[in-house]
Amino acid sequence: MSFLTRFARQWIAGETLDDAIARAKKENNAGIRAIINFLGEHVKDEAEADNNVEENLRILRAIEESKTSASLSIKLTQLGLDIDKSLCLSKVDKIVSAASSKNIFVWIDMENSPYTQDTIGIYLDIIKKYKGVGIVIQANLKRSEGDVAIIVASAGIVRLVKGAYMEREEIAYTSRSDITRNFSKLMAYLFYKSPFFAIATHDDRLINEAIEANKIHQKMIEFQMLMGVRDELKRKLVKEGFTVVDYIPYGKNWFPYTTRRIRERKRNILLIVRSVFDI
Ligand SMILES: Cc1cc2nc3c(=O)[nH]c(=O)nc-3n(C[C@H](O)[C@H](O)[C@H](O)COP(=O)(O)OP(=O)(O)OC[C@H]3O[C@@H](n4cnc5c(N)ncnc54)[C@H](O)[C@@H]3O)c2cc1C
Repeated sequence: MSFLTRFARQWIAGETLDDAIARAKKENNAGIRAIINFLGEHVKDEAEADNNVEENLRILRAIEESKTSASLSIKLTQLGLDIDKSLCLSKVDKIVSAASSKNIFVWIDMENSPYTQDTIGIYLDIIKKYKGVGIVIQANLKRSEGDVAIIVASAGIVRLVKGAYMEREEIAYTSRSDITRNFSKLMAYLFYKSPFFAIATHDDRLINEAIEANKIHQKMIEFQMLMGVRDELKRKLVKEGFTVVDYIPYGKNWFPYTTRRIRERKRNILLIVRSVFDI
């Protein structure tokens, strides 16, 4: 096993669905709910998109059969968004329809900015038919303030994140402080306008801000974090009575996801450089 593969394993349950369910069960035992994600993105071939639909349907069956407390997260370029928007919508519909019949919540992850508009468009179509579906909004994008308002006005459900993709300055906040400031602003809006939303960050300052705001607004909030990141904090929040959810990815296509995790923290880059140069 290469250093990178071993390094990646801290954020990924393994290659199989069984690995993901086992990890989700372990988190459930610690009072933490799970979100399961089958890794993969930018599919160019419809047969592959169909295989990905089947794998997501397998996840839903496995969650139900194993009685795991888990929801599902999907990425639209894994389901054919690069091929055609309406083709992708029909595949998302198939997954959400199955999830809805099993009472399993589905989150739609947000990819980089060329996909924002179509992802929101598909989401708004889907929530006309189904409840129990949420969408990710990225605080680094300048357009997000308008998007959150539209989604909340349509009774949509938001998972707020900082944003994992490098974006151009014309459309995005690029400094850590500007992104955090916009996150606070969007979170404040959600506390005023939305009954239920997810705060997906590992940032103490933002988590504490949410805890304080919730003392006033008393909303249904959940803290979502990534598998392998800040596990002690997750357990502390559970003890304090908050809903905490762990995002658990699995599958063979772990490289792009891992690259995003490495980039998020200077210490991770340093560890890789050290392993390459053996210093
Ligand atoms: C449940 C969930 C779902 C997400 N879905 C999406 C999505 O659909 N689209 C999208 O663009 N982004 C998504 N993200 C990623 C998000 O946009 C951020 O890139 C990521 O969460 C890091 O930002 P942060 O808010 O934790 O703040 P940061 O400022 O990056 O981190 C705050 C602190 O958390 C710790 N930390 C953060 N990352 C790591 C790490 N990799 N390893 C170790 N410690 C770390 C460090 O202590 C750091 O100081 C998701 C994040 C979560 C938690």
